[in-house]
Amino acid sequence: MAFWPSVVVATPAHSGVGASLTYRSELSLAPGSLVRVPLGAREVLGVVWECPAEPPEGLTEAQTKAVAGVLEGLPPLNARWRQLVRFAAQYYQRSLGEVSLAALPPPLRDLNSVQLARRLKKREKQQAAGAPQALAAGTSTDIGPDLSDEQREALQALEAAQAPVLLYGATGSGKTEVYLQATQHVLQAQADAQVLVMVPEINLTPQLEARFRERFEPLFGAGALVCLHSGMTPAQRLASWLAAHTGQARIVLGTRMAVLASLPGLRLIVVDEEHDPSYKSQEGARYSARDLAVYRAKVETEALLAEGGDPAARCRVVLGSATPSLESWHAADQGRYLRLSMPARIGGGALPRLRLVDMNHQPKGAVLAPPLVAAMAERIARGEQCMVLLNRRGYAPVLACHDCGWKSACPHCSAFRVFHKLDRTLRCHHCGFTERVPRACPECGNLDIAPIGKGTEQLEEQLASLLADVKRPDGGPARVARMDADSTRLKGSLEQQLATMHSGEVDVLVGTQMIAKGHDFRRITLVAGINADSGLFASDYRAPERLFALLMQAGGRAGRDAAFVSSQGSESELWVQTWTPQHPLFAALRRHDFPAFAAQQLGERESAGMPPFGHQALLRADARTQQAAQAYLNAAAQAAEGLPHRDEITLYPAVPLTIQRVANVERAQLLVEAVSRAALQRFLSAWQPVLLECRSLPQARGLVRFAVDVDPLAI
Ligand code: ADP
Ligand code: ZN
Ligand code: ZN
Repeated sequence: MAFWPSVVVATPAHSGVGASLTYRSELSLAPGSLVRVPLGAREVLGVVWECPAEPPEGLTEAQTKAVAGVLEGLPPLNARWRQLVRFAAQYYQRSLGEVSLAALPPPLRDLNSVQLARRLKKREKQQAAGAPQALAAGTSTDIGPDLSDEQREALQALEAAQAPVLLYGATGSGKTEVYLQATQHVLQAQADAQVLVMVPEINLTPQLEARFRERFEPLFGAGALVCLHSGMTPAQRLASWLAAHTGQARIVLGTRMAVLASLPGLRLIVVDEEHDPSYKSQEGARYSARDLAVYRAKVETEALLAEGGDPAARCRVVLGSATPSLESWHAADQGRYLRLSMPARIGGGALPRLRLVDMNHQPKGAVLAPPLVAAMAERIARGEQCMVLLNRRGYAPVLACHDCGWKSACPHCSAFRVFHKLDRTLRCHHCGFTERVPRACPECGNLDIAPIGKGTEQLEEQLASLLADVKRPDGGPARVARMDADSTRLKGSLEQQLATMHSGEVDVLVGTQMIAKGHDFRRITLVAGINADSGLFASDYRAPERLFALLMQAGGRAGRDAAFVSSQGSESELWVQTWTPQHPLFAALRRHDFPAFAAQQLGERESAGMPPFGHQALLRADARTQQAAQAYLNAAAQAAEGLPHRDEITLYPAVPLTIQRVANVERAQLLVEAVSRAALQRFLSAWQPVLLECRSLPQARGLVRFAVDVDPLAI
């Protein structure tokens, strides 16, 4: 007796290899089993998709190879997981093999059964050692703080919800506490339940991980919570993945990649800061982890209901934010999501008052308006902290020669290299190309080359000098620190910088958007956004949405401790320096009125047929010449004539990307628009083989790669 398992292996997206390959096996293999199979000259990891006892028609024994081995000791990946990855592959137009295998931790590809058994044993031992004394399922010990009325109502509504929940809560309204208690209830109700908590960037918010560990390790043991994100070593990722897959881990705290982890007991998914663009992958399958989370909860719930058992059993999903994405907000408007609001801050603190500074009326060349500097000085003298946001790292975005007009262009990209003063380098933020700053102009030899524009390094330097005479209450000098991708590159440096902020050692924190995210600093009473509106001049229709979210989130770092603010006799403020103070966004921001802002933006989007009212995809092409990239795209558009649903689709002409050349590759894209999601999906599927064929057209010579981005975030 032989079986003919169809096995999914890691195939490049456009290799032309079908969805799965057929092998032979003496044993019947459960779907979802992990196997090692020969592929060409190699042996690779694969996932069994089906295992029929009959060979597919036309296939003989001689044409198939035998499965080389099964990873024993590992339960198969369940049907819900397989449905999730199949959906992700289809929806985002990638191969099933690519998506399935990319969802598995890399080292799994190299382990044989013996090595795997060893890992599993080691985990079990650790688990046994870390398990707390008795805590049977069903016991309930509420260990968090007493919830506010708003929190309690939100929690109850969430726990009864039949639809995805949009938890719309002001910054500091206690959303995290709601996640914690919802998690606790789910885990205590059922011994094998699991919870997935997703955050945009774990590394930025070590505080959140600490809060979850502190809460749940005493209840469920040291191995109950694992993390899953790209900053971990492959071995760590494997360990976390195994713990999740075998059910030993009850909570997985991770970034977008965690949405594809195997979690057989999944009952709750939390997507914190659901508006954050980092939930959308920008490579490979360009999936939205937020959208997949919603789909995943639906699949899990359907399976639970189909199993019979408890009719109330569900896998719930909560999307939380103070500034939800307009997609989620619209879904709640339509009743597809359940909106729960928590407008008040814990402790009754007020949201910061907006102070708009019209830069048209400030002294020429001032980076910081004098009234802002004065306000900061006052606060520092009172022992309060300030935060200054500038979304541009380095010292200056360009270095230039005023004699001959030379600028620090990157030789490999259509962009300028940024001047970093600390290590005296010119660095390209797109391709990484770095050189020492030349002593003289490379073109004309002029010694007087000067920076143009400001970055965080320079802002830090200027603030330190502007505040040089300001004294803290303890008599010490004001201290300014900077936090951005440069200052946090070394391991542990971010934690250390956050610690100096929490301890009050630092008075002013300067940084890029990473300082705006999620931190619970207790003594900040003033937040300032410098040059924040530069994004508004970009052509991206999402720019106002992003800016509003950024400023609300940044402002949300101010005045989080109501008791502190009032004991100071102070009031928290959000200062925004802008060249366009009349923009309607600021009126809504002044009132902290996200609903009004969202309604206005959604109105504009609706009349323009933009998402979420229309649906988009991008076809991107990278090539050795811009001409080839665009020719490929335009040829693909022409070849789309006659495809199913073509008449419901608008294909725009190919255009270069804003930064059209990166690392010597020319980039172009073509926008695909449709009124209905279904039509877009069917069209894209039909287009896929055409896209492959068009690669070999003569005008596409020099094409390096193409990719489809469904529901792109930036166009
Ligand atoms: P958010 O996630 O909405 O920004 P958090 O959950 O971080 O808000 O809560 C803000 C602060 O209030 C945190 O310091 C948190 O510990 C505290 N907090 C939250 N809920 C409560 C509560 N019910 N009682 C007391 N303190 C709370
Ligand atoms: Zn010169
Ligand atoms: Zn470059």
